Amino acid sequence: MPELPEVEVVRQGLAPAVTGATVAGVEVRDARALGRHASAGSEDPAGDFTRRLTGAAFAAPARRGKFLWIPIDRSAGGSDPGEALLAHLGMSGQLLLRDHEAEDDRHVRVRLWIEHPEHGELRVDFADQRLFGSLALDALRATSDGEAAGRGSELAAIPSQAAHIARDPLDPAFDDRRFIAELRRRRTAVKRALLDQGLISGVGNIYADESLWRARVHPETPGERLGVRAAAELLTQVRGVFAQALAEGGTSFDAQYVNVNGQAGYFAHSLNAYGRGGEPCPRCGGPIKRVAFMNRSSHFCPRCQRKR
Ligand SMILES: [Zn+2]
Repeated sequence: MPELPEVEVVRQGLAPAVTGATVAGVEVRDARALGRHASAGSEDPAGDFTRRLTGAAFAAPARRGKFLWIPIDRSAGGSDPGEALLAHLGMSGQLLLRDHEAEDDRHVRVRLWIEHPEHGELRVDFADQRLFGSLALDALRATSDGEAAGRGSELAAIPSQAAHIARDPLDPAFDDRRFIAELRRRRTAVKRALLDQGLISGVGNIYADESLWRARVHPETPGERLGVRAAAELLTQVRGVFAQALAEGGTSFDAQYVNVNGQAGYFAHSLNAYGRGGEPCPRCGGPIKRVAFMNRSSHFCPRCQRKR
């Protein structure tokens, strides 16, 4: 399942090819991949999506948490913020950059034919085996704090479907002091707070366990028991885990083949706690403990991560 670093790798891979490109054609092969697309009027989703996207010019792609979007360039004017092509990768979604002659990948649901002033004609293929992901044209709305909406964009406008989630820790406009203060007001377990998309987005179960292990914080420590320094250290470690995952999954732009999230588990060999129940803690040698947590599991070292 793509997590924040994988989606960020997708954004970085797409950016040079789609920024400034024009959509020359749209091919909807499976309308189920448009599950979050709201059609205007009574038109069928595939027809509406195709009509509205054809001819559109793309601005730079942006990301908040696991939402990725490409704003439609509004240089023609208009006062409303416009709209964006919004992608959610779900469990198995991929955005694949291909040249025109490349062979079909498996499970391509939607294909965009784009023309870029430098890179020429390319395809952006949305492939999704399990169909939990989707593409949609979504209205942009002004951000509540007036800052740019996410990483990669300078526009202070966010797709309405992504507006409910908090900024993620890789967002240049993430407010560290506000996050630390809010975390320290929580009576609930700090891990639950890390997974709360309304407080901080993009931190999934793996990254929560890894950053708690690095910061030596027990996952069930109530937020209010963390001092300012411990809360700040935890945030630093969340960013550290993301940075390492990005470094290991980073890919450079290649018009022939940018398979940005196809390689599953590239980060797995770097995990210290997650998925290592019963194995020795890489820091102290004691056994990593695995316990049930919110229908999932928590992995931590009871020796290094004492409950406060
Ligand atoms: Zn340990």
